[in-house]
Amino acid sequence: MKKVAFYTLGCKLNYSETSTISRMFEQKGYRKVDFTDKPDIFIITTCSVTENADKKCHKVVREARAISPHAYVAIIGCYAQLKPKAIAEIPGVDAVLGAAEKFRLVELLDGFVRPPQTKVIASDIAEASSFNSSYSLHDRTRTFLKVQDGCDYSCSFCTIPLARGESRSDSIENVVRAATSIAESDVREIVLTGVNTGDFGLQGGKRVARFIDLIRALDEVDGIDRFRISSIEPNLLTDEIIDFVSTSRKFVPHFHVPLQSGCNKILKLMRRRYLRELYAERVANIKSAMPHACIGVDVIVGFPGETDEDFLETYRFINELPVSYLHVFTYSERENTPAATMPDVVPVSTRADRSKMLHILSDKKRRKFYEEQIGSVSKVLFENDIEEGMMHGFTDNYVRVRAKYDPLLINDIRKVRLTSINHNMTVEVEEVEQEVLQH
Ligand code: SF4
Repeated sequence: MKKVAFYTLGCKLNYSETSTISRMFEQKGYRKVDFTDKPDIFIITTCSVTENADKKCHKVVREARAISPHAYVAIIGCYAQLKPKAIAEIPGVDAVLGAAEKFRLVELLDGFVRPPQTKVIASDIAEASSFNSSYSLHDRTRTFLKVQDGCDYSCSFCTIPLARGESRSDSIENVVRAATSIAESDVREIVLTGVNTGDFGLQGGKRVARFIDLIRALDEVDGIDRFRISSIEPNLLTDEIIDFVSTSRKFVPHFHVPLQSGCNKILKLMRRRYLRELYAERVANIKSAMPHACIGVDVIVGFPGETDEDFLETYRFINELPVSYLHVFTYSERENTPAATMPDVVPVSTRADRSKMLHILSDKKRRKFYEEQIGSVSKVLFENDIEEGMMHGFTDNYVRVRAKYDPLLINDIRKVRLTSINHNMTVEVEEVEQEVLQH
């Protein structure tokens, strides 16, 4: 029985896909092992958003070769679609597969006999038009379920449409079926994942469903306690969705809404589909329907043309908003994107300074949000981790809490009172009642 190991760089989508591909291998009789367990085959899933994607890919290939010098090394993922030839030149790579081919990997590379020359099987991205259902099953407490792939937007900094193709989705029936079968694996929480999740419902370029229809259907699935929406564009986060989540039994009050810039001039240069006024309105609507909701924000600093004043506009805008944390990205040029050739490039050191300022703002926002939750009673899903005798979990509104390690708590949902914030920015809790909320 050949042994296969996986390494995944990048986002939740990549994790859901690697996990699905690993199950395909297992169905064909391969044995999945750890990366260091001398595998016969390595499958490395790459990311194009990651800084230094090429360096990271080189490094993982080198590590794989050091562990199993004669193993078969195949590379898939966004970077493999964008730069198949460059990856094929990395010493030690046996095969590179594109977006349209990665799910046929087991059959395309049947036998995994190392070829004399690297195989490159990567069609044009226009060929990646079918949807491959995927979900992760690594972590018992949370599963990433892919409901949508690709993107039809054309944000000027983004390579994802080039790497993942057009927007397309699973059917509602399939997603419900997948959620039902995930529930059978004792998973308590599903995170709905996509490139542009809120754009759910396109099939073959035609709109056949809407995101709101999907979440209504999922709310009825038995056996899953929580659904979380990984990220949703502000222009697609309608009042209908916000109202539904506010009354839902299972969709948690946590939204991650990309902002990218709080300056309208920069939003236009980025070709985003909203202005800051709409963003502020969405945040206000969430908070008015769910005052305890957690709101995460993606922001890019140092986009071409972003002056000090533009950046401060973003800073002040976010500072005023009742949001809970930021994911800060430092702009970096990506080949074949309109932004890469825009004038008024921001010096790298200025980008770093701005990033630092927003990281500090993020800490401040998170602390304020946590402080507001102290004293409240919440349900926590405990994870399978241990750190100096303690374990962690998240409330439905995404407060990270800590409790004394107890194996019985793993994958259980407990009702707790949030008592104080500790120096690690996690929240201490006390159990309110010995209630274990089993399926
Ligand atoms: S919405 Fe914009 S940033 Fe997001 S994947 Fe699509 S093109 Fe990229």
